[in-house]
Amino acid sequence: MKILTIIGARPQFIKASVVSNAFRKIGGIDEILLHTGQHFDANMSDVFFEQLAIPKPSIQLNIHGGTHGVMTGRMLMEIEHAICAESPDRVLVYGDTNSTLAGALAAAKLHVPVAHIEAGLRSFNMLMPEEINRILTDQVSNILFCPTKAAVQNLEREGFRYRPVEMLNVGDVMQDSALFFSERAVPPAGYDVQDEFILATLHRADNTDHPERLAAIVMALSELHESGLRVVLPLHPRTRAAIDRTGVKLKAEVIEPVGYLEMLWLLQRCGLVLTDSGGVQKEAFFFGKACVTMRDQTEWVELLDAGVNVLVGADTARIIKQVKGNFGRIVADNSQLYGGGLASQRIAERLSCN
Ligand code: UDP
Repeated sequence: MKILTIIGARPQFIKASVVSNAFRKIGGIDEILLHTGQHFDANMSDVFFEQLAIPKPSIQLNIHGGTHGVMTGRMLMEIEHAICAESPDRVLVYGDTNSTLAGALAAAKLHVPVAHIEAGLRSFNMLMPEEINRILTDQVSNILFCPTKAAVQNLEREGFRYRPVEMLNVGDVMQDSALFFSERAVPPAGYDVQDEFILATLHRADNTDHPERLAAIVMALSELHESGLRVVLPLHPRTRAAIDRTGVKLKAEVIEPVGYLEMLWLLQRCGLVLTDSGGVQKEAFFFGKACVTMRDQTEWVELLDAGVNVLVGADTARIIKQVKGNFGRIVADNSQLYGGGLASQRIAERLSCN
């Protein structure tokens, strides 16, 4: 079984590390890694390959920047070449980025079966580039590996039950990575957080591309930080530039984006997670921390139902109120929500068959 795996963005490196490990363990799968180059900075890409012992991709496209159309179009062309050259039995894609969509579309047009990890997630907000990518990717996939019950239900509502495709609720591979790597967590270099702190991340286009939303969030972070609840913010390069453009002064402990092992260390020690990331919402839960999410919707609705995550949009007063009200709250773990750490093994077992 020859599988061409398409990765390109930070969360995909983290997810692919545990799935590729499971492939090696189970045997019989010849995996070829293709890195599109969507994320390319040392601290957004290389560090994950080093820390998570991901083999060097045999195909590196170095495609990044440009509009969504330009980036996705260039990837589509190059991935098509790679599929023709490698003749894989299957193409494997992760999540909801431009790399995901380009990989799935290139494969489907060449009649190569597509497996999608993290299928079925929906925010129901078509203004999000990720929502467009995930809906279209699901449409052309043959095996839909869903991370949650809600994801399966979304696909059922869209009529997938009546199509000749497989929908499997395997659990979430990010829980596998959190469990597998948490013992190896390390502090960020030259950094030792002693006091309690808020761990914040901010990079969703819906926030960074709207100056009024971004300014409202920056005001909330600054006010929290100045009130004595220290805000530690590993800042995505795109967000840093966008904040500078708003002209609002950010008062927080801003650090460079960290590697995954440093991120796990911060997650283990923080008093609360404040984020607009998809993955970080779940990681807060895996480490027993309450999460305040600076978005208007989430794909991980079971966290809202469990009362461990709350949506606050980009509203300064709501952000501050929810952070203060939830800081230090320990959240009970119900690991079965996300498959209990067996997702990658289940995926490898399925893909080793045919
Ligand atoms: N992450 C990291 N370093 C950081 C910020 C995030 O390793 O400085 C990890 C985080 O722990 C999670 C993943 O990156 O595993 C989430 O990626 P991101 O927030 O970029 O994407 P999303 O999940 O929103 O698609």
